[in-house]
This record gives sequence, structure tokens and C-alpha cells, in this order.
Amino acid sequence: NRRIITIDGPAGAGKTTVSRALARELGCVYVDTGALYRAVAFEIKYRQVNWQDSTLLEQFLAGLELDFVMQGREPVLISSGRDISAYIRTNEISMLASATSAVPQVRKALLGIQRAIAGERDAVFEGRDMGTAVFPKASYKFFLTADVNVRARRRFKESNASGISFEKILEDMVKRDRNDTQRVISPLKQAADAVLIDATELDVFQVVEKMKRIIMA
Ligand code: C5P
Repeated sequence: NRRIITIDGPAGAGKTTVSRALARELGCVYVDTGALYRAVAFEIKYRQVNWQDSTLLEQFLAGLELDFVMQGREPVLISSGRDISAYIRTNEISMLASATSAVPQVRKALLGIQRAIAGERDAVFEGRDMGTAVFPKASYKFFLTADVNVRARRRFKESNASGISFEKILEDMVKRDRNDTQRVISPLKQAADAVLIDATELDVFQVVEKMKRIIMA
């Protein structure tokens, strides 16, 4: 029986770090679905797609080629044959991903891709709507959150050389959380059967231990 574990939550809660560590301990793959939304945003920007025009957006989405290729234990996102992972972590792409992810056509295109990636493997999936929309029947569901100031502080530390102030990171994070929770289709929300973990005062190790205790029980 295949195991799918979902981890949803707002930006900067530590989902990626926790998913990577948990997947390693369980010996399965992890999939960062935010990277898919970021890739869409990156390609829209790079190809200068007028995404507010639904016909042009539809054409663009039909030609999208996104896949994760395993490099050792790490899944690397490939878009139209290129590894774009180095370009999708900027603040600009975060904000564009949040805006374009609210468009129903974008979510629909990525829904199929996400389920296809899962295939028949055990996997940890992290994002915003894993437990609610993409894998409603997941084996284990977690909702990982933390105080917004703590989340912004973490992002600020990660962004050391980018020159963006803490205030700007905090402001954009609040904006992005608002976009993500208020959009009409598949908003960021805790699934009814998800376990809530508040990581405000927990480190990655402690969060992973909590999850493992639940999964192994
Ligand atoms: O997780 P990450 O910060 O990389 O996600 C970037 C953006 O992609 C989010 O702000 C959100 O708008 C969108 N996203 C989404 N659904 C997911 C994952 C990410 O809408 N499952």
C-alpha cells in the first residue's frame, strides 16, 4: 500500500526543510509543489506571456513541460529540458507565483502533473493544497505553521546576500499568505483531518520527530 504524506502551510514555516528530512528518514521521495508554481511564474516572465489573457495562458500551459528528475536522492525540477532551480527562489518569482497560482487554469494544469509525479511511489508532498485538493486521501496529513514574524525572520536569514530588508520580506509574506488563503480555488487551508504543528518554538529536528511519532504509531 502506497503512502502519501502531505505537508501544507504558509510561506516560511519550514515545509521544504522538514519534507526533505522526513522523506530521507522514511526512505521515500519528497516533492516541493511550490517549485512547480514558481516554474510557471518563471516561464511566464521569461517568455513574456500575457497571462491575464486566458487564450494565451491556455496555449502557454498546453506547452508546459515540467518534471522532477532524481539526482541521487534529490528531485530536481526540469522545465522544458532545463534545470531552472537556481532562478525560481527570488522574491519577484515568489510574488508572481502567488498571483498566477490563483488562476484556475494554472491550478488545473498542475493538478494532473502533481498526481502523475506521485505515480505509484511513496512520497512526501509539500505545498498549500496537498491535503485538501491534490491528495484528499493521503495516508498522513500535516499542517505546518509558525508565527509570521518567526517565518519572515527565517526567510530574511536565508536571503542574506539579496539586499532585501526584513520589513519588505515580512510585508510580502503577509501579502502572499493573504493571496494564498483568500483565493477562490484550492485556498491554503488546514484539511479537516490534518494534524496541526506550530513550529514557532520548534526546530526542524523536533518537527520531524513529532511527524515520525504519528506516522510510526
Ligand atoms: O511553497 P512556495 O513558497 O515555494 O510556493 C510559492 C507559491 O506557489 C505560493 O505562495 C502559492 O501561491 C503557490 N503554491 C500553491 N499551491 C501549492 C504550492 C504553492 O498555490 N501547492
